[in-house]
Amino acid sequence: MQFTETRGNDGSYAESVSFADAILSPVASFGGIYSPKQIPVINQEFLQRHLNSDYKALALSLLSLWDIDVEPPVLQDAVESYDGFDDSNNPAPVVKLEQSIYVSELYHGPTRAFKDMALQPFGKILSVLAQGRNEEFLILTATSGDTGPAALDTFRNRDNIRVVCLYPDGGTSDVQRLQMITESANNLKVIGIKGDFDDAQAALKSLLSSGSFNQRLKELNISLSAANSVNFGRIMFQIIYQFHSYLELVRQQAIAMGDRVNLHIPSGNFGNALGAYYARQMGLPVEQIYIASNANNVLTDWVNTGSYDTTSRSLITTSSPAMDILKSSNVERVLFDLFGSIRTHELMKSLDEQGFYQLKDDETARIQEIFSASYCSDEEGHNYIKDSFSNGYLMDPHTATCLKSCKMAKTVNDHVNIVYSTAEWTKFAPTINQAITGETGRSDLEALESIANTANIQIPDIVLSLFDKPIRHTDVVEKSQIESQILAFLQ
Ligand SMILES: *Cc1c(COP(=O)(O)O)cnc(C)c1O
Repeated sequence: MQFTETRGNDGSYAESVSFADAILSPVASFGGIYSPKQIPVINQEFLQRHLNSDYKALALSLLSLWDIDVEPPVLQDAVESYDGFDDSNNPAPVVKLEQSIYVSELYHGPTRAFKDMALQPFGKILSVLAQGRNEEFLILTATSGDTGPAALDTFRNRDNIRVVCLYPDGGTSDVQRLQMITESANNLKVIGIKGDFDDAQAALKSLLSSGSFNQRLKELNISLSAANSVNFGRIMFQIIYQFHSYLELVRQQAIAMGDRVNLHIPSGNFGNALGAYYARQMGLPVEQIYIASNANNVLTDWVNTGSYDTTSRSLITTSSPAMDILKSSNVERVLFDLFGSIRTHELMKSLDEQGFYQLKDDETARIQEIFSASYCSDEEGHNYIKDSFSNGYLMDPHTATCLKSCKMAKTVNDHVNIVYSTAEWTKFAPTINQAITGETGRSDLEALESIANTANIQIPDIVLSLFDKPIRHTDVVEKSQIESQILAFLQ
């Protein structure tokens, strides 16, 4: 399987690369990214044949369809990362919420958010590829909360990879911050930034284009890679759990084999939704993919009107912070797959330079054959958290945005709905505690205790123990100091 550039070729990057090349160096011509040339299709017996496969066997079988240049033992070892999840045979359990709504819980990995589903296996693969080439790679990441902990966890003590993680001081939950600053491995560096997530991201961008920084990296023989979802190595492991949850519903007799289902995805950078898109294109019986957003509802408008417009918006801080994004990087791969690189280049150039693009009517219609979209305010989300708690299910604020889209789907068709739950309740405890008890102004720890009491459940040890771990990374710096901090770490 070869990968090609979403915006066409400018002569300075390879037009066609293997999977290994695409994940080691994800950036392509004209600011584009690498995307698969074709999407493999499952044959008719595939689902039936895997009805009784466990998650790892299913994953290996799906990966083999993509025919990627990673040795089978490396892939085998990568999927064994799921042994570190709560239930190694079923890392992503599917539970019934109510009539025709099921939740696929993607947060049972070590950092309690869906990022682990992909980053855990991805970290092993990237390190093996780097070792095979005898090269050192640096992963620079700016996080609003979940990517940082998941990237640090997966690369902990992995050879040939170093990670620097920038987070906005005061902009993450306590649990997320502790997950990062208590990391003790020598190949990991965590730096707090005085500013918000946008500042952290802008600092990262300017660093990546800084001549002196890149020169220094060259001298140190270090190449840059990426761990955000523009890296296809992450996407690859986000095209598995849709098949798994579908088969779970068949096993639970909620659907018959071949029935179509609706998928509901709480969306930020569109990586999770892109995985669902590929699963549908591969032949999983999916009716519609519902894109759920918060008040930053740029994707809602994109699907409903064909207009992707950031000009009249500024980022709104919500209680589902992992979805506070205006430019969702992976939409570009859908554009490329449906409309080709020439059109994608045109559209993305317009978005980069003018802050918007407008699809033509037939293009919008094509998008709407596949996607539907809605958004949910914080207040609505809090009510969904409260309602589902009174029905016995504890849900995080990102997942809650999908309940509105389930209601919408029910007015359109009778298919069973699968909601992809992206975080455990422990990661956003103050919001959830407020929704279910009405208490405000609680710290993470107080809120965790309050929820545990109210719901009569235990705070998982993996979360509770964070509050007693020694703090290893104390740097909180001005943006201007980031470069020197990183270079000092790399020496
Ligand atoms: C990252 C994340 C999302 C958004 O996923 P994308 O792939 O960026 O769309 C949603 N919820 C949580 C909790 C996340 O950590």
